[in-house]
Amino acid sequence: MKTIAWDVDDVLNNLMQSWFEWFKNRKKLNLDFQDITENPPYKILNISITEYIQSLDEFRLSNLYQEMKPAEEVLEWFKNYGKYFRHIALTATPLIAAPTTAQWVFKNFGRWIRTFHFVPSRRENINVPDYDIDKSDFLKWFGKVDILVDDNEKNINNAKKWGISVILFPAQWNSSKLSKEEALKLINRMME
Ligand SMILES: [Mg+2]
Repeated sequence: MKTIAWDVDDVLNNLMQSWFEWFKNRKKLNLDFQDITENPPYKILNISITEYIQSLDEFRLSNLYQEMKPAEEVLEWFKNYGKYFRHIALTATPLIAAPTTAQWVFKNFGRWIRTFHFVPSRRENINVPDYDIDKSDFLKWFGKVDILVDDNEKNINNAKKWGISVILFPAQWNSSKLSKEEALKLINRMME
């Protein structure tokens, strides 16, 4: 069976939209989610990267993260095809948010996703050993992943170097022209 590594934020869930709606209300912004065409979106929001990261981390540690619904199309795919693959979660998240992210993954996708992996995003005042500089570095060391599903174009391009099959998961901030359903269908062709 092939093994799929799933990015968590903005693939299994809709973190950016959930965070944005919360931030927009709080700041009384006159923008819609459709306007968020870059990730990270701090320039579009006219805020500093520090403010963006702090507010995103605050959201991650609040109940709002735990209450997020799984992405419907993805959950539907798992119900139909999940059993034909093995699955791991692979996220880049700050160390402080790793426990809540892992809990969310197992609560919503634990029927299929059995292991959780993260590459710590850098945060001030948090020192952790640098085992991997990014997800592709992790994938090279881990060596078991056949397919990567991620909305970050850089992660996708770097993973290709190790011969991993890749699915760029559609998002407003990347170049995919597919619908989520179409992107997920591509995985089925990779079944052994
Ligand atoms: Mg992501």
